[in-house]
Amino acid sequence: MASARRASLVMLVANAEGSGRKCACCGAPTPTPSMCACWDHWMVLPEDLRSELLRSYTRDELANYHRALLDAVRIWQHLGVWRTVSKARV
Ligand SMILES: [Zn+2]
Repeated sequence: MASARRASLVMLVANAEGSGRKCACCGAPTPTPSMCACWDHWMVLPEDLRSELLRSYTRDELANYHRALLDAVRIWQHLGVWRTVSKARV
C-alpha cells in the first residue's frame, strides 16, 4: 500500500517536470503523457474506453479520440466526479 502510494507520487513529480498532460476532468497531471486523465478519473472509466483512448491517441486518430473523450466526460458527469478534485488528493 505504502509503496504504491510512493510510486504514484514519483510519477506525479516526474510528470510535473516533463511534457505534462493534464487530466481532462480535474486538471491534475496525468501519470503518463498518453493518458488523458489523472489516475483517479482514469480508473473509473470502462476498460474498453480506456484502451480506445490510448489507441486513438497514439495513432493520431483525432476524430475517434475526441469521440472517446466525450464518452469519458459523460461517464464522469454520470458518476458525479466531473471537474471535482479527489478528496484523497487534498
Ligand atoms: Zn482527474
